[in-house]
Amino acid sequence: MGEGKRVGVKPTTSDHQATNAKLTGPLLPYGRQSIGDDDIAAVVAVMRSDFLTTGPMVERFERALADYCQAKHAIVVANGTAALHVAILAAGIKPGDRLLTSANTFLASANCAEFVGATADFADIDPQSYNVTADTLRAAWQDDVRVIVPVDFAGQPCDMPSIAALARERGALIIEDASHAIGSRFTHAGKSYKVGGHPWADLTTFSFHPVKTITTGEGGAILTNDDRLAERCRRFRNHGMIRIETTGPWYYEMPELGYNYRLTDIQCALGLSQLQKLDRFVQRRAEIVAAYNAAFDGHPVLRCPRLPQPSAFRLQPYSVAWHLYVLQIDFDAVGKTRAQVMAELRQRGIGTQVHYIPVHLQPYYRQKYGYAAGKCPVAEAYYQRCLSLPLFPAMTDADVERIIRAVLEVTQVSA
Ligand SMILES: *Cc1c(COP(=O)(O)O)cnc(C)c1O
Repeated sequence: MGEGKRVGVKPTTSDHQATNAKLTGPLLPYGRQSIGDDDIAAVVAVMRSDFLTTGPMVERFERALADYCQAKHAIVVANGTAALHVAILAAGIKPGDRLLTSANTFLASANCAEFVGATADFADIDPQSYNVTADTLRAAWQDDVRVIVPVDFAGQPCDMPSIAALARERGALIIEDASHAIGSRFTHAGKSYKVGGHPWADLTTFSFHPVKTITTGEGGAILTNDDRLAERCRRFRNHGMIRIETTGPWYYEMPELGYNYRLTDIQCALGLSQLQKLDRFVQRRAEIVAAYNAAFDGHPVLRCPRLPQPSAFRLQPYSVAWHLYVLQIDFDAVGKTRAQVMAELRQRGIGTQVHYIPVHLQPYYRQKYGYAAGKCPVAEAYYQRCLSLPLFPAMTDADVERIIRAVLEVTQVSA
């Protein structure tokens, strides 16, 4: 797990005040859960009930998730990585198959191929959206590609209709890694679609890790409109078992190998409670992003996240459920390294993080497949300059102003 994965489960703000006396204020992490008394009450109620796991809350959370996303099925699992693994198993990906994902993602989007003995491979990103596109996927295509895993980076959905056209033409399945993008929407040909429910992914995965937009502690889900894929996901989540009650009420069989990737009732109660607040979280995140953009747009050494130009596939600013706020910083022009900028912001009580080190450059992938620098040049250049600022719904306007002031100060170009 990257350093950032731990930030979301750091101690509370008051703990920080106690242990970071030399900071000028409380430390603002790059991401943090928002847990209210309603969430706590929902969890406590399950603790007093008959079921701690695989009780009524699992189905209720699944139904609510599917309804929210306008999808037919939701299958909840232990975490976002398990969601990708189950999706890969449901899709029937096997040794000899190749998976194509973004170079700019968390490890798990690629690792899920390796879990089943398939080959993980990487496509470059578009320099505007930082997402893969039909063009970058086409450029990286090889004959054995059986599944593509587009990642909705920072919450911004990929151009799924054009990616789906490519995948269908070449007979590949699509698993959309929407770990960042629950609550995002896009319009296509005049109609509005939600991530998780639109017709251009075979399976979509979410993560409910505490840094993500809603949380269950650890948790994840797979959404699909396909009955057969949904049935397979349920099976692989639970040891590969199927009940055959015609033989007897006790009888089950295991036709294929599965896992214990179940999510508990305790976690599903938390998820259900969090889901009620998702739209409010998304709205607050959008307000913070707008304030950052207003402050940083046009700055000589900073570049704000940009939405693609209006097109057949069209995004409205407020339809993106922003998970991350990533600045591109020209560190050379500032005259400081990224580590220096991060340290200076940290001294001012501001936590930052790097999303992401291009995955093809990880030692495992370099050694196994000989992937090297130059394979995905746009993602590599993006990585040199990226820095994620704090973005979570509990931030106050004063927090946002403090961060803006600090970033402008620390990245000042000396005359
Ligand atoms: C968080 C994340 C995952 C993995 O989710 P976990 O719940 O931490 O296992 C996968 N892909 C992306 C893009 C993520 O951000």
